[in-house]
Amino acid sequence: MPPRLQLGPRVLVIAIGVSAVVLALALNPLEMARQTEQWEPVPPKVTVGGAGVPPSDAIVLFDGRSLDAWVGTNDHAPARWQVREGVLVPDKSAGNIETRRRFRNYQLHLEWRIPEDITGSGQARGNSGVFLASTGPGDAGYEVQILDSWDNPTYVNGQAASVYKQSPPLVNAARPPGAWQYYDIVWTAPRFKADGTLQSPAYVTVLHNGVLVQNHAELRGETVFIGKPAYRPYDRAPVKLQAHPDPSPPISFRNIWIRDLPD
Ligand code: MG
Repeated sequence: MPPRLQLGPRVLVIAIGVSAVVLALALNPLEMARQTEQWEPVPPKVTVGGAGVPPSDAIVLFDGRSLDAWVGTNDHAPARWQVREGVLVPDKSAGNIETRRRFRNYQLHLEWRIPEDITGSGQARGNSGVFLASTGPGDAGYEVQILDSWDNPTYVNGQAASVYKQSPPLVNAARPPGAWQYYDIVWTAPRFKADGTLQSPAYVTVLHNGVLVQNHAELRGETVFIGKPAYRPYDRAPVKLQAHPDPSPPISFRNIWIRDLPD
């Protein structure tokens, strides 16, 4: 028969002491608070500029000088829009332009201005648009509408800051013609399974002039002029600007930048 374990008084005192310390640490509010602190990985530091200055980790798409980042959507030749006094002006006869680079998820900033002498009404008054993913020629893709919506009734899922024919803006944050306006957009691209069917839909958040107008809005597919939206599989895609053929004077763009976001 094995000898019974005999705990001497000294061992008991040590065991009780250690238990007391462990209990005290466990009940210490500061120690308990530390258990839920995360210290790594440390977020990269980004230098933030003033108005009109992109953050240091942005990819500049238009800085007022060069159109090098852009090509024609249909011919993929160097973009033929006009750069005048630091401002990008669509050439409606040249068609849409899109970035050379392709993106998946991102944050996008762009500024646009309806001319003060704008003419026309409804969809024919300063119509343009930013396609968050250009999935083919012409207007193929996912469009956030650009339009004069200061005093210009039209269908609400086609006014400025709408997801075209899918989601009206929460409010109308438009400025009058002649004023610069801006979009800050967070785009979560749709994901597709290997067989091409949809795995998860696209979502978009849009601030128009700093006001939230699309709050993680779910898209039902590509934005289309006629018919119902549908998804078509793609991986990465350019960002596209629309040269809408309406007869009103062309709008302007400036200060366009983008930040890749992780999947
Ligand atoms: Mg448009």
